[in-house]
Amino acid sequence: MKNGENSNQFSRRNFVKSVVFAGIMAQIPVMLHSCKNIIADIFLKITGTNHILGHRLWLKNFPKPTETIEIPILIIGGGITGLSAARQLVKKNKTDFLLLELENTLGGNSSFGTNKATSFPHGAHYLPLPNLQDKELLSFLHESKIITHFEKGMPIFDETQLCFKPQERLFIKNNWQEELIPKYGNSEVANEEINRFFEITSQLKEEKGFDGLYHFDIPIKKISKDQKYRDLDTITMKNWLIEQKFTSEELFEYVNYCCKDDFGIGIDFVSAWAGLFYFAARKHDASSNENVLTWPEGNGRLATHLAKFANNKTKKNHLVYEVKQNKNAVEVLCFDAKNNKSVMYKSDKVICCTPQYINSYLFKDRKTSAKFQYAPWFTATISLKKESDLNNSEFYWDNVIYKSKGLGYIYNQHQTVNQIIENKSLTYYYSFSNADLKAARKGFLKMKEEEIKKIIISDLSIAHPNIENEIESIEIYKMGHGMISPTPNFIFSEEKEMAAKNIDNKIFFAHSDLSGISVFEEAFHQGIDIINQIL
Ligand SMILES: Cc1cc2nc3c(=O)[nH]c(=O)nc-3n(C[C@H](O)[C@H](O)[C@H](O)COP(=O)(O)OP(=O)(O)OC[C@H]3O[C@@H](n4cnc5c(N)ncnc54)[C@H](O)[C@@H]3O)c2cc1C
Repeated sequence: MKNGENSNQFSRRNFVKSVVFAGIMAQIPVMLHSCKNIIADIFLKITGTNHILGHRLWLKNFPKPTETIEIPILIIGGGITGLSAARQLVKKNKTDFLLLELENTLGGNSSFGTNKATSFPHGAHYLPLPNLQDKELLSFLHESKIITHFEKGMPIFDETQLCFKPQERLFIKNNWQEELIPKYGNSEVANEEINRFFEITSQLKEEKGFDGLYHFDIPIKKISKDQKYRDLDTITMKNWLIEQKFTSEELFEYVNYCCKDDFGIGIDFVSAWAGLFYFAARKHDASSNENVLTWPEGNGRLATHLAKFANNKTKKNHLVYEVKQNKNAVEVLCFDAKNNKSVMYKSDKVICCTPQYINSYLFKDRKTSAKFQYAPWFTATISLKKESDLNNSEFYWDNVIYKSKGLGYIYNQHQTVNQIIENKSLTYYYSFSNADLKAARKGFLKMKEEEIKKIIISDLSIAHPNIENEIESIEIYKMGHGMISPTPNFIFSEEKEMAAKNIDNKIFFAHSDLSGISVFEEAFHQGIDIINQIL
């Protein structure tokens, strides 16, 4: 699920595979018939962000606080932003802080689970190699031993944390091809358009504004003030493709997939500026190849490194339900779900590392603009049966199905050096791309396990026709407000700017939704910047 690659030619290896696959396809009617009677029982488990506790924010039916704790600095939210803020405080020798997290794990969208075979991501699962100019990120990766050392100013990454080969494949026209850019059976027009698209994005990657800064850069705060491309934020990605006179299905499908993967919404809904950001903001200048960093637990690995800085300063299962300013201190009311009691915290500085839709419940008069749109997501971690045929097949790290509703699946044991793996584990990704994300969320949250299972099976059956019989269990992880989804007129909006403003230099806001782009780098920098603003 990485984009911005260059297209390659179709290889002979895939051609051989396609012939073999055609033979298998001929047998499918027989296989499907025999499957009918032996549809296996799949053990289904459904978890996700803590909706039940979260929904109590609406009701506010919490017991009255029975205890008051004074703490100079309080961080609310233990996602990447909150954890990065904790790290920055420690770097600045400020250790008199506490972090409150609603879930029983840290990491937020970058948290992870474990099953009997492996760890697996709940959400975020990789970090592209950072831009060379991003010194803070390079420094964090170095201290976390992800970068082993530097040679002539270039970072050298630990090989075991770089994504191993084979990396990405696309199931298209009944064939698995290497890489995600459609190549197999493309028309000449499609190939020309794909090349032209990458020529444009390569140029955008390099281009700088009047102030010498890139038009597209990550983190987004570093971009040029030059307005040249900002109008692209007023149209959708699809309209931009049409304006550029692109017509081929293959290109539209590819870009649609990338936008859904990066923002949860497809080209019909995402801002063209945001869509192009993904192809142009990463400079791929820290290495000669465009690899990514990944781990079985996904970006849970990065969250774990950051969490070391908040050791013994973290309270999990703690839901903050009200923040108010008093003469001498900021008062934060928090429900301790484990002990079923409420606590009042009194602090000089409070940093809300929570998404804006949550903040509107924490403050009496804080409305969140409807411009903050969040796509619902689920991930589903599939354990294959020991005896299943699929268990013996060679998975790529990232496996995507052309034109499918979902976003494909990751092979969780890809980075394992162990050759014998009894139960293979796959994590499937799905976002609800829709004009009305609120309605989509409502429908999604009502969905039962069986309904979600049907989505997964019918999607994966395109590439793996017998999959239903190969699965031992599925663990579904629901995220009602998965990630910020930048629709037109949001990224440069006044509403977004206002939401990031602090209150009386006492209450501060930091979260990836305030950058408008939900990725590790943005959350990481949001955390650092907010502390630099305070201290
Ligand atoms: C399915 C999915 C896949 C993704 N894949 C990638 C990827 O591969 N690479 C990548 O870079 N990014 C990915 N992302 C983006 C990811 O969102 C960011 O990388 C990053 O994790 C966001 O961190 P954050 O701290 O800004 O937000 P969050 O993760 O939203 O953190 C907010 C935290 O606040 C807590 N909280 C909320 N309300 C309260 C309250 N009232 N009291 C106490 N605590 C509260 C939450 O539980 C959460 O822990 C993905 C996102 C999703 C949803």
